[in-house]
Amino acid sequence: MTKTITTQSEKETADVGRALAPTLTAGSVVLLVGDLGAGKTAFVRGLAEGLGIHPDEVSSPTFTLIQEYRGGRISLFHVDLYRLDDPREIDDLGLDEITVDGVTAIEWAEKLREAPRGAIDVRIEHRDGDVREVTLSGSSALPS
Ligand code: ADP
Ligand code: MG
Repeated sequence: MTKTITTQSEKETADVGRALAPTLTAGSVVLLVGDLGAGKTAFVRGLAEGLGIHPDEVSSPTFTLIQEYRGGRISLFHVDLYRLDDPREIDDLGLDEITVDGVTAIEWAEKLREAPRGAIDVRIEHRDGDVREVTLSGSSALPS
């Protein structure tokens, strides 16, 4: 199942993430693909909020490759592969182990050699100005 939503602001992109949150359970993986500035982190901020996590906690994980946000319905692990180019380093992150305990959102997921089974794909394309096209696919329980 695929669904495309056009957003006109950062908040609207976050709202898509927020709407997705109730459909997620421990073990859910959300793969985010899109250029720098597309809105991946904005989407994750909304996702966090939808899980009951304070959205201010969500920043781009610059130095830590994985950040865990607690305090919501489920923990959210926020991964950013932007600075990782060596596939071995990505393997070393141990994503397989962490993904069972919470929801995992991975920015620059195209760098993964193998997509986790059952993952939800979120592709964000930058259109003119503040317009973004957000395409969700892979889950049978996408928000309407
Ligand atoms: P990424 O994580 O993909 O690099 P960010 O979420 O960090 O991108 O940044 C997106 C930037 O684009 C923010 O500065 C945000 O305010 C701006 N922006 C403008 N319009 C939108 C939109 N429709 N959706 C998301 N972000 C938008
Ligand atoms: Mg980002």
